Amino acid sequence: MTNDQMTEVHYCYRHPTVETNLRCKKCGKYICSKCARRTPTGYICPDCLREQENRFYTGSLGDYPLAVLVALPLSLIAGGLFTFLIGSIGWFSWLIAFFLSPIVAGFIAEAVRWAVRRRRSRYLAHVVAGSLVGGVAPFLVLMLLAGSFYGLIVPGIFLVMGTGTIMARLR
Ligand SMILES: [Zn+2]
Ligand SMILES: [Zn+2]
Repeated sequence: MTNDQMTEVHYCYRHPTVETNLRCKKCGKYICSKCARRTPTGYICPDCLREQENRFYTGSLGDYPLAVLVALPLSLIAGGLFTFLIGSIGWFSWLIAFFLSPIVAGFIAEAVRWAVRRRRSRYLAHVVAGSLVGGVAPFLVLMLLAGSFYGLIVPGIFLVMGTGTIMARLR
């Protein structure tokens, strides 16, 4: 390496005034620490990251309505079961709700995953979690209107734990 190369100054390809020695692992372009995205194989530039993500997300736009079509009715059924069946057991129902919520939500997540043929989409988890909220919300409203604050607890547990489970499962 010559002296000239050693002292050569490089600039970020997105910030022409920012000096950097960091290079994208994939395309070799110079990137500043602000632009660099950390991946398991090293730092890459935002362009390469987007390309990588596009290859990762194999789903199509039609997967979103399909996910709602599967998740919403199941969430409605689950919301009804939690509110009226499990919610009527008594104080013990809280324990059952804690135990059953991740299982039922996991089942909904798997049903959606099966329906979209396991294709991955960026917002699939959000859409399914939103469907779960949409399926449980009517029962929460019903309990509120009935003045049964106690009745809010079991579907509430399902709502919180269920959305958490779905966000984790469909990442
Ligand atoms: Zn790159
Ligand atoms: Zn930069």
